[in-house]
Amino acid sequence: MDPNQSKENAGGPVQNKPNLFNFLIIGVIITFALNIFMGSMTAGSKMQIEYGQFIQLVESGVVKQVQIGEDRIALTLKGDNDGNAVRNILRLDNAATTNRSILPSLSQGDQIFYTGRVEDPLLTNRLLEREVAFFRPIIQSNPILTFISNWVFPLLIFYLLYTFIMQKFAGTMSGGLGGMLNVGKSKAKFYDMEKNTGVTFNDVAGQDEAKESLIELVDFLQSPEKYRKIGAKQPKGALLVGPPGTGKTLLAKAVAGEAKVPFFSLSGSEFVEMFVGIGASRVRDLFAQAAKHSPCIIFIDEIDAIGKSRDNQIGGNDEREQTLNQLLSEMDGFDSSKSILILAATNRPEILDKALLRPGRFDRRVIVDKPDLPGREAILAVHGKKVTLGTNVDMKEISRSTSGATGADLANMVNEAALRAVRMERAEVLQEDLMEAVEVVIAGKEKKDRILNPKEKRMVAFHEVGHALASALQKNAQPVTKITIVPRTMGALGYTMNVPEEERYLMTKSELLARITTLLSGRAAEEIEFGEESTGASNDIEQATKLARSIVTQYGMSNKFGMMGLESPSNQYLDGRPVFTASDVSSAGVDEEIARIIRECHETALSLLRENRAKLTEIAEYLIAHESINGVQFMDFLS
Ligand code: ADP
Ligand code: MG
Ligand code: ZN
Repeated sequence: MDPNQSKENAGGPVQNKPNLFNFLIIGVIITFALNIFMGSMTAGSKMQIEYGQFIQLVESGVVKQVQIGEDRIALTLKGDNDGNAVRNILRLDNAATTNRSILPSLSQGDQIFYTGRVEDPLLTNRLLEREVAFFRPIIQSNPILTFISNWVFPLLIFYLLYTFIMQKFAGTMSGGLGGMLNVGKSKAKFYDMEKNTGVTFNDVAGQDEAKESLIELVDFLQSPEKYRKIGAKQPKGALLVGPPGTGKTLLAKAVAGEAKVPFFSLSGSEFVEMFVGIGASRVRDLFAQAAKHSPCIIFIDEIDAIGKSRDNQIGGNDEREQTLNQLLSEMDGFDSSKSILILAATNRPEILDKALLRPGRFDRRVIVDKPDLPGREAILAVHGKKVTLGTNVDMKEISRSTSGATGADLANMVNEAALRAVRMERAEVLQEDLMEAVEVVIAGKEKKDRILNPKEKRMVAFHEVGHALASALQKNAQPVTKITIVPRTMGALGYTMNVPEEERYLMTKSELLARITTLLSGRAAEEIEFGEESTGASNDIEQATKLARSIVTQYGMSNKFGMMGLESPSNQYLDGRPVFTASDVSSAGVDEEIARIIRECHETALSLLRENRAKLTEIAEYLIAHESINGVQFMDFLS
């Protein structure tokens, strides 16, 4: 928790309470005043008399004037009457104590009597006859009152409603509207700050490649002068890409721990809230805080929640866009002398907005993949240290049976095993606890995540080695740098990585065909080894078909059509999909050509692998045992 956060809240929404209260009181007072004012118009008529008595008074000529109201008639007596006539009519004798107080005024002409109004058509005539002045008071519309009731009251009510609603939401808001209401300074903490994470790279097992690229960033934070002196700009951000549970958060913390700098962390999804402008102001707050603590690290988890690509969207999300823009401008804004490093994590880098990936922003990408066999062993060793292990524990065996498990899964397994040991009332964790825990964790995950069973693992191994061998055996293909059968979340069960030795701008027909052959030899290897086909080749087939199609329609390399252009890449900049420009007959012909190319390449792949069946088996067995092979090891097999 950041101390400065709470300071800002000292004068927060609490101020609104007295406001609301004051307005309620003022409202009540105004109502009272109005009532008193209205009431005063009928004041003075103090004693009720019968209608008959009223008529008698009029007839006897003591009445000076009559005020006819909505439901009552008030009368004023003549000042010069002797009072006796009145007394007689009203049967008020001198001894009547109750009404004594009004008697002195009987002769003073006050309106001291009133009577209920009765439907009396003769009344006007009677009054005219006796020359009694009579009138009906017009309730004057007082301009001030009108103004109050038409304008002030409604406004007051809206204002009160507004204050009330704003207070309700104030808790979820931060920054933004500000102004006289002072809403928007939120109590809600949206980021964490750790002065020292206490995590080092030693706590992160495996992930050597990721660590390597992050070590440089640690150096940036520790000795910025070194870079400044030579005029080098420090990188501002790095994107950690990998499936959940592989240790992205852990790695980010380790960078902070190694550099001994504060660690600000927040989650992208928490940023995006109901009110437009809030996310953006949060970004501002965050960077302001970070600047005070520089050098430091800001870690944004799930950045895809804010950084989603802005194109391909109907309508779009204003809030997210504003937040993203604010983030971009903050990243551009702070000068690199501030030494703020922004790390972000995502498992869906492909949906990120291009603007985030531009130089000066998250231009570095650190892949944090699921661990392979040695990686799992290392992770198990790290977490095994935290519990008391029995002598019979063999972590190698555990790591062999957990292909596809992430670091988080493995940490969880060790903990499950320890819990089981306690249930069994043992003081140490035995191998059986671990094996049992593997079952529990894998069974819980199997549906969601791929963890390969041994048969699948074999099939994937042969498939991948098929690709790699075909690639290595063809003179026009690209060299292999890595083969792995650790399942990925991105769809592929394993992969073979080919990296071209030099950057290429042109490809020859034979290179294209070699590429197709390589793509098809995964399936070919399955056919040779198992005599059966699996679904694992679908992506290969898609890519191979695309290439074959381009050969025919765009590169003019087919015998059937020659150099005829059949497709134009006209909307390449929109979705990159070429448009077919020739006739339907040609279209059928293109399909035939594609099928022929694919068939021929498939044949090549099959014969290549059949000739090298021994190597195929040898490398595949090694891969099954080790899960990944790098380029050098692979070439050793071939030489
Ligand atoms: P992510 O952020 O990628 O989803 P985390 O960093 O939150 O994953 O990892 C969750 C937990 O899994 C960590 O706290 C740690 O205990 C364990 N873990 C994950 N990867 C590793 C690793 N490479 N070495 C050691 N522990 C790991
Ligand atoms: Mg995480
Ligand atoms: Zn394949």
